[in-house]
Amino acid sequence: RRIAEADSVAVIGLGRFGRSLALELMAKGTDVLGIDADEEIVQALNGVLTQVVRADSTKEEALRQLAVDEFDRVVVAIGDDISASILTCSVLLGMGVPVIWAKALDDRHGLILEQLGVQHVIYPEKDMGKRVAHLVRGAALDYIEVDPGYALVKASAPAVLLGKRLGDTGLRHAYGVTIAAFKRDDQGWTNADADTVLAAGDKILVVGPTSSAENFAQLR
Ligand code: ADP
Repeated sequence: RRIAEADSVAVIGLGRFGRSLALELMAKGTDVLGIDADEEIVQALNGVLTQVVRADSTKEEALRQLAVDEFDRVVVAIGDDISASILTCSVLLGMGVPVIWAKALDDRHGLILEQLGVQHVIYPEKDMGKRVAHLVRGAALDYIEVDPGYALVKASAPAVLLGKRLGDTGLRHAYGVTIAAFKRDDQGWTNADADTVLAAGDKILVVGPTSSAENFAQLR
């Protein structure tokens, strides 16, 4: 069965990263065609992904047979074998695949992919390393730098905010951050507004320039 419809993605390379990505796409209801050169990996994911095929993705003929050119979105999750990654991206671009996401091992690898014309080059190890550094260093419970210099930080509500309306705390002026949402006990996240009054133990989502948001997350 051909699965190249609107909500489908082809994932090439089913190592740790590609597999995790493919499983998450499946969990969110996206059809996934998985491709890997390793028979054991293909066997292991048989019946788990919509379709799994053993093929060498550097061969245009193989990708054509799998109708990979009919997919709107293809992820190249080959990392260690840089030449296989580059050849695969080159073949996909030549076939006219509109949107390619490709994993790069390092800056040099990423630069070549960008020069080829790959629209989305991702650096999972580098990015995760940076992210974890922020978690290890400070009091942030979670951290996402949306773009360089602007971040979203999950933290515990500090004493300065407790028991009064957020609108009366002068928070934006004093700290340069905004509280976007809060979470109490086992309840889900709720959007915060000027009338929100936080209690001890609440978790908050702080949004703002990275250094301001991080400094605010350090407050007790
Ligand atoms: P990770 O670090 O995410 O585990 P790897 O680079 O180790 O990533 O794994 C990449 C996967 O891509 C491996 O399972 C490997 O078999 C597969 N792969 C490598 N080269 C090709 C190729 N030419 N065609 C298809 N699959 C390939």
